[in-house]
Amino acid sequence: MAVTIYHEQDVDPRIIQGRKVAIIGYGSQGHAHALNLRDSGCDVRVGLREGSPSWKVAEEAGLRVTTIDQAAEEADFVMILVPDEKQAEVYERHIAPHLKEGDALAFAHGFNVHYGFIKPPEFVDVVMIAPKGPGHIVRRQYTEGSGVPDLACVEQDHTGSAWDLALSYAWGLGGARSGIIKSTFKDETEEDLFGEQAVLCGGLVEMIKAGFETLTEAGYPPELAYFEVYHEMKMIVDLMYESGIHFMNHSISNTAEYGEYYAGPKVINDESRRAMREILARIQDGSFARDFMDDCANGHAWLLEQRRKINEHEIERTGENIRSMFSWIKK
Ligand code: NAD
Ligand code: MG
Ligand code: MG
Repeated sequence: MAVTIYHEQDVDPRIIQGRKVAIIGYGSQGHAHALNLRDSGCDVRVGLREGSPSWKVAEEAGLRVTTIDQAAEEADFVMILVPDEKQAEVYERHIAPHLKEGDALAFAHGFNVHYGFIKPPEFVDVVMIAPKGPGHIVRRQYTEGSGVPDLACVEQDHTGSAWDLALSYAWGLGGARSGIIKSTFKDETEEDLFGEQAVLCGGLVEMIKAGFETLTEAGYPPELAYFEVYHEMKMIVDLMYESGIHFMNHSISNTAEYGEYYAGPKVINDESRRAMREILARIQDGSFARDFMDDCANGHAWLLEQRRKINEHEIERTGENIRSMFSWIKK
């Protein structure tokens, strides 16, 4: 195996339990980190903007909330969980002035450090603990006694013990229950961006849309098209997730399996693979990061236009109607 996986017996929980942890931001990841770390016996404060709508929510969850400046001042471990495009500004104004020798600066995604938008001083540890799942699953699995696996990485080891610290934080998040995978800021950043762009979000949504449009343009009813190319997606993915592609193939009919080999490579063909390599190259040379940050500086104009288009797509209305008919699909 090319990666090393760490479990509970490899971790010293007392390291993170002995630190003063600041969680900056209380969104998808922030709430999960703050609550899981607190429930793991750590000294947690949440740092938020004054007037943040999350302030009350975090307090109602029993957490101590303070300003970002105050949280960064008190803490010796600062986990930055505000949106990637806001991190550099929040860091410069509210976190950097409070960093002391031997503090740790932590991230859940390598974007800002890897592309140089944040340049931490040499007198702190710089680590990443990146759960491989959305924040709400990170919290839910922890409360259920399991945990989402984490990637843990060290970019800068000033104290000489940054790795043990990162492992210990990942334990607090619940990651040691399933496994903590050692990685680097470069690999995590580039692989995460590629995965979400080419396969998970970009590739998947575009493939579903193309299948839906092909069927409806040929005159098939949108509701049936929705079932075929969207609704059933989860069942197929669940089978692959639980037991492998071979088990999914075992579960579907021979007709479906024959069709998989017959048609799959025609859809994801040499041209698609070329496009994937280009996407990866633009991630590696920083072009994607620049395009994204330029759009952020422009008020997310391009992103908001794309969001409007997908929200108005017929597949979304069809899905809403169908999902409202099925009581077993919970909100
Ligand atoms: P989010 O958008 O859900 O939450 C961000 C929070 O930051 C907000 O709730 C708010 O409390 C605060 N905030 C927003 N704007 C701010 C500003 N201008 N100044 C100060 N605070 C502000 O973000 P997220 O999805 O939890 O992402 C946080 C980090 O975690 C990112 O680095 C992201 O790449 C990483 N990450 C996210 C996920 C995920 O599932 N969402 C998974 C792995 C890693
Ligand atoms: Mg990812
Ligand atoms: Mg990501």
